[in-house]
Amino acid sequence: MEYKAGIGYDIHRLVEGRKLFLGGVEIPYAKGLLGHSDGDAAMHALCDALLGALALGDIGEHFPDTDPQYKGAAGSLLLKKVKTLVDKSGYRINNIDIVVIAQEPGLSPFKKQMKENICGLLDITQDRVNIKAKTNEGLGPVGNKEAIATYALVSLVKGG
Ligand SMILES: [Zn+2]
Repeated sequence: MEYKAGIGYDIHRLVEGRKLFLGGVEIPYAKGLLGHSDGDAAMHALCDALLGALALGDIGEHFPDTDPQYKGAAGSLLLKKVKTLVDKSGYRINNIDIVVIAQEPGLSPFKKQMKENICGLLDITQDRVNIKAKTNEGLGPVGNKEAIATYALVSLVKGG
């Protein structure tokens, strides 16, 4: 296979008393995402997309939420671990496209830093990563500000 593609999806509930992390950026907001780890839905969806492209299962298999070492784990740490699997695969990242869906807070001011974080962690140039931020038009749990969701798509190309 010359190319491999993978898709990832994640959603976390917004609750009081947690910091909000998305794409490795701490975003000022009254609530944060609930989870065993830091709840960074953007990083988790990206990890799942990479694991999918590698045919290596999903984030829950690699980082079980019953494992105390991942309690409060930063999304960036999980992404770094997944990167080692990419490095071993004989494939490299061709491109990444991420859609973060949050009714609140507005994420546009943070897209640039998310992109920089992801490029830095994966050691790829910025022309390979795109981040979109959108609302859910007030619909459903994301639109009701009860949760934040993310879709991620990656493609890998053969050649380390
Ligand atoms: Zn998650």
